[in-house]
Amino acid sequence: MSEESGMDAAAGLPSADQVGQRVSIRSHDPEGGFRDLLGYLVSPTQVRKKDGQIITFDPSQIALWKVVPDNPLPTGIYLYDTKSRQDQEVVISDGRELRLYSCGPTVYRDAHVGNLRTFLLADLIARLVRGNGFKVHGIQNITDVGHMNEDLDEESFATQSEDKILTQAKLENKDPFALARSYEAKFHDDLSRLGIKSADIFPRASESIELMLRLIQQLIDSDNAYVGSDGSVYFAANTFAGYGALSGNKLDELVPGHRYEYKGHGAKRFHADWALWKAAGSRSEMVWDSPWGKGFPGWHIECSAMSLHYLKGHVDIHIGGIDLRFPHHENERAQSNSASMNEVTDLWVHGEHLLFEGRKMSKSAGNVVLLEDIVQRGFDPLALRLTFLENRYRSQMDLSWDQIAAADSTLSRWRKKYQEWSADESHNDQQAVAQLLETINKSLRTDLDTTRALVQLRAIEKDLSISPKSKAEIFSAIDEFLGLDLTRPPAAIELSAEVQELIERRKVARANKDFALSDALRDQLLEFKVTVKDGPTGMSWEVIP
Ligand SMILES: [Zn+2]
Repeated sequence: MSEESGMDAAAGLPSADQVGQRVSIRSHDPEGGFRDLLGYLVSPTQVRKKDGQIITFDPSQIALWKVVPDNPLPTGIYLYDTKSRQDQEVVISDGRELRLYSCGPTVYRDAHVGNLRTFLLADLIARLVRGNGFKVHGIQNITDVGHMNEDLDEESFATQSEDKILTQAKLENKDPFALARSYEAKFHDDLSRLGIKSADIFPRASESIELMLRLIQQLIDSDNAYVGSDGSVYFAANTFAGYGALSGNKLDELVPGHRYEYKGHGAKRFHADWALWKAAGSRSEMVWDSPWGKGFPGWHIECSAMSLHYLKGHVDIHIGGIDLRFPHHENERAQSNSASMNEVTDLWVHGEHLLFEGRKMSKSAGNVVLLEDIVQRGFDPLALRLTFLENRYRSQMDLSWDQIAAADSTLSRWRKKYQEWSADESHNDQQAVAQLLETINKSLRTDLDTTRALVQLRAIEKDLSISPKSKAEIFSAIDEFLGLDLTRPPAAIELSAEVQELIERRKVARANKDFALSDALRDQLLEFKVTVKDGPTGMSWEVIP
């Protein structure tokens, strides 16, 4: 331990006053020597280590101990926190890297553009934090088991609850794992086409069973969970006093049997309790052994187990769609906080709903739009990204084909202009560039106001007092935040052999100063919608759209 040397002993023993503080404790080892423990004090005899594990120590064996404060790093970035209902500064709690968790896809179908808008949110926040000079470590889970169907009506739900993956695997006549892997691969394709890098690690639920079993056992040990008469393990909602802080759904106001929850047919002690582990019953696929018998994990426990494990017991920013606020995030918070006896997440960020041409996207309405549909229509996938940026993440957005088309042409224009500006001989004004960049950065730091940032970018595009070279530098720098690939040269247009030959012949004609032939060839090219321009560096051409 780095604190070994020069450890100043604190007076007395750890006390209740010091709960919540980071401490380093050196105890006598019964087998000789010393044992060191570093973590957060959760009681005068317990420490929560950075992996979330709670260790009980014997105060009478303490040789030395001291408080080792973290150095939280404020970022100057503000985001709206769902829990406190106000903008809150993003703080890197361990002083090293921002710990970001975002809820990932349930891989039983293609992600539609509404899901992609939420996944983009994690990427935008990560880019903003990085762009302001900090490090980010992001986790996004892949739910490939345990997410139960909510689309059933009240009555059928009461008798049967199906795992989304298993239902779809039956429909497609596939192995459930093979099905999950194929949709997971498509999810990663979508992310890469949209320039989204939402996480560093994408753990799968089916491969995190051990983590979940350990956490469930910990919750049983702390009396926050119990084994029901049906062999499932339930979280006892009323053991968590802060329930409802995110969504406003207080326990005493929740109607028994609300449709989102798996019903244990009377095995729950209280209607608002939820399953952490579900007994397999007659289910034979995607089941695992557990101390409580064969079964499978609940959906909510997945995110608690993964965030506590991979982010070492604390989440600086937790991201998800607004539909996950309740019950998913409310339940996750109850589990995580109960297990670690601490407020695990500092900031809850939720992205709003997306409508398509005025209506909620749904399979039954037949208006589900995928990224593939946008590409099929000949649009750049990043045109979708730009339409999302035009609308701030926290406002409900109504997407339309017209907006995508407009964004597509804006992107082409900006890319073309960038090439022109950067080739320009003008010099850039460093001070002006820095000032303008700061103006846009400030909009983004103010609860990710991408709408405003784009208005500012358009003003810069049009401003004649800013030199072309400065504009190129601004567009290139701000693209690190926006991810629109603005410095990419416009796609080279395939010319037919005939047109290529005409161009070559005209170059020769000009070199020979045969202006009559050169003009004739220019007119012929125009019939192919190709215009030529003669400049100081030679002839250039352009296809008329
Ligand atoms: Zn989640």
